Amino acid sequence: MVIKNRKANGVRWFACCFLVVFLVVACLNSSFSYAENTASKRILFISSYSPSFPTFFLQIDGLKSELDDGRNVLDVEFMDTKRFPTEENLNRFYNNMKFKLAELPPYDIVIVSDDDGLNFVMKNKEELFSGIPIVFMGINNIDNAKKYSEDPLVTGVVEAASIGDTIGLAYTLNSNAQRVVALVDSTSSGQGDLISYYKLQSQYKALEFTDLDLSNMSFDEFGIALTKLTKEDIVLNLSAYVDNQGTVMTFPDSLSFILENLNQPLYHPYYHGVGDGMLGGRVISHYEQGIQAGKIAKRVLGGEDIENIPVVYESPNPYLIDYAVLTKFDLNEKRLPKDTQFINREVSVFEKYFGVIVATIIGFILQTLIIVTLVYNIHRRKLAESEILMKKAELQDANDELSVLNDEMSASNGQLIAANQELKEAFCEISDQRKHIYDILYIDTLTGMNNRLGIIEILDQLLTESLEKNPFYILFLDIDNFKNINDTFGHDLGDKVLHEIGQRLRLLESERFKVGRFGGDEFLILLSSEDSVYFEDTINGVQECLKELIIVNENHFYLTTSIGVAQYPLHGQTKKELIKMADLALYEAKNSGKNKYMMFHQTMSTNVENKVKFQSLLKNAFLKKEFYLNYQPFICPESNQIMGFEALIRWNSKELGQVSPYKLITNAEEIGLISEVGNWVIEEACKFAKRINETSTKKLQVSVNISMAQLMHKNFFQDIAAVIKRLAVSPELICLEMTETIMIQSIEMGQALIQELKDFGFTVALDDFGTGYSSLSYLRSLPANILKIDQSFIKGVEDDPYNQYTLETIINLAHQLGFRIIAEGVEKSEQMEYLLRYHCDAIQGYLYSYPLSEEDAIAYILQRNSYDGE
Ligand code: C2E
Ligand code: MG
Ligand code: MG
Repeated sequence: MVIKNRKANGVRWFACCFLVVFLVVACLNSSFSYAENTASKRILFISSYSPSFPTFFLQIDGLKSELDDGRNVLDVEFMDTKRFPTEENLNRFYNNMKFKLAELPPYDIVIVSDDDGLNFVMKNKEELFSGIPIVFMGINNIDNAKKYSEDPLVTGVVEAASIGDTIGLAYTLNSNAQRVVALVDSTSSGQGDLISYYKLQSQYKALEFTDLDLSNMSFDEFGIALTKLTKEDIVLNLSAYVDNQGTVMTFPDSLSFILENLNQPLYHPYYHGVGDGMLGGRVISHYEQGIQAGKIAKRVLGGEDIENIPVVYESPNPYLIDYAVLTKFDLNEKRLPKDTQFINREVSVFEKYFGVIVATIIGFILQTLIIVTLVYNIHRRKLAESEILMKKAELQDANDELSVLNDEMSASNGQLIAANQELKEAFCEISDQRKHIYDILYIDTLTGMNNRLGIIEILDQLLTESLEKNPFYILFLDIDNFKNINDTFGHDLGDKVLHEIGQRLRLLESERFKVGRFGGDEFLILLSSEDSVYFEDTINGVQECLKELIIVNENHFYLTTSIGVAQYPLHGQTKKELIKMADLALYEAKNSGKNKYMMFHQTMSTNVENKVKFQSLLKNAFLKKEFYLNYQPFICPESNQIMGFEALIRWNSKELGQVSPYKLITNAEEIGLISEVGNWVIEEACKFAKRINETSTKKLQVSVNISMAQLMHKNFFQDIAAVIKRLAVSPELICLEMTETIMIQSIEMGQALIQELKDFGFTVALDDFGTGYSSLSYLRSLPANILKIDQSFIKGVEDDPYNQYTLETIINLAHQLGFRIIAEGVEKSEQMEYLLRYHCDAIQGYLYSYPLSEEDAIAYILQRNSYDGE
């Protein structure tokens, strides 16, 4: 915007400068052209009067303004006819001119003023001025002017005095006037004007036209007549130089004389005298006549044919008023024509210097405009500059900020790179940790396959994705009799076998086959297909691959598997249902001879329903005190003495008949009845212990089975201690049997618990040794008193030397560790013989006695004691 304005201003300034230069050059050019076209000319000016006559200088000034270019020659000759209107004067002038014209180079043009001069020139034209163009001016006799201008070499400007307009002006200023009085003499111009004067009478009918004519009176009479004039007279001076006595007065003298005798304003249709006491009028301007005659002469001298230049019959006569006289006679200035010129008017400084002031004002305005423009431009420039400076500063600031930002960003970039690196490392670490956590959570350390959580997670995904559209199979797989491997070869070996099984199953893994170790020797397989052929092939494949020989530590194993199968969504909607159904199917497969697979069917589900019903009956039975205890004695094989009894719970249900204690206990655990049941058993057993020991001379111990859930109950110790205390039974009479599962969660905890019970006075027996995960080396950490070898070790011992060896090893080792040994499930005397041979401390089994009622047990004691006594 600023730049645009500056451009526009520049263009304007250039245009102004160009204009000024153009004008100066044009002016110089025009004056040069004039000088070139006008060669040096000789001009003769003949004046009718003398140099002292007031009109002369006005005429000569007008002529010079047109013709005096510094080269033309302008000669002036005076006829002086005003002062010497005689024939002699004319003759002398003639001779003089004849002489001069003969001696001097010829004139290019003759300019003549007033009637006398024109008459002389025309009269002597052939003799003196032959072939010379003649221009006249100041001619009052219009008829003569017309006549003479018929000559092709004559033209000029007439003197058309505005007598009428002067009278009109006077009448305007003095509207009370009644009469016009013309002052006149006998001169030709005076008489000429007088004729013109009277012709005007018809125009001003309200006024009387009269005159005071010096051709009829002397100056004295003239003076008296003037004094008699009144305010109702308009006095008009036409010509008053000569009186009837021949007395001649110069114009100034004549004027002074008139003004001395006159009390009215004096009007005059001529320029001269105005300012010297006359009021004025519409005056002939001799200066203007000079100019107009000069213009004609210039044209002729310039080469124009004089014949084609017409006579000027009208000349511009201005209204001229002496302001001092106007004021003296108290005349109204406002009645004057607008273009009236004034003499003796004190011009105000303003009027005097109006032009200068106007020029100054214009100059000032122009200057102001220029200054304003300049100031405005400077202001705009300064604004633009300050704006630029501001923008520059802003840009500098922004630049600084950007630099700082850049530095910061560079620093940040470095930090970001470092942070990025850290993040990458952290990400890798997290990934590793995630993998690690995932492995911990979902991977079985032994087999490297999915653990229970892992395979259930996959099951969850399958269920989410399937939404009943994609059926799949869930297989519950259990290695048949795997317990024996563990029991026989220990867990380390058992683990290696499991590892091998895992590897084989993992080889079968595919998109449709997912496997995980569910726990112990149980595996869960998910088959994402409803294709029965694929299903059959896969099941067979699994069984076949696991059937193949496994060699671990040079031991050879041939395994079989039982598999329970459930189908989604046919057999269950949730994972819990599906696993439960597969488990039931597995249970059935096991029950029906193992080494097979069984698909879940509704009858299995009925078993579940039965279980619910059973548990309900169980609860009622306990409340109705339907439970009772049997006591099975254990005997010292060497002495045949009764060492004690094991209390075994019994429930002879009306609906179910005799119920297995194992089933009773596990269901009591499931429904949270185990503590009550357990406490009842302890109380009954304690009563029994107290009773049998009251009559017996030997200490008879009563063993009570404590289930894992019962043992872990928070009030277990207080409850049992309270019973002992209440019944006042010695804890030494009580042996607490517990399975090795007590050690599974934490060895330290199991040790502490056993120690606490022993410290209280109880005997602690480890029941069913060999059925769980325990191995012989495991025994070292068990602080129990008695080790009860499970009947599976007894069964068949008489037939298999390996079994005998195993049994002997166990007994020896246990003895070495300070355990007393009770062998369970001894039915045959052969079995007892081996046990006797291996120095087993006690024997429990049908060989001696079935579990007995309390009364039968007491009877058995009596019988045994009497036998013993025998
Ligand atoms: P256990 O503690 O190992 O008890 C020994 C089991 O072997 C008893 O089975 C007993 O009847 C059986 N038995 C004894 N001698 C022979 C024999 O020569 N041949 C055979 N085949 N079996 C023999 P029972 O009474 O059916 O008890 C089974 C299991 O139930 C017990 O095994 C014990 O673990 C549990 N149990 C029984 N009563 C209670 C109880 O009051 N509380 C708790 N927690 N568990 C109990
Ligand atoms: Mg037992
Ligand atoms: Mg047992």
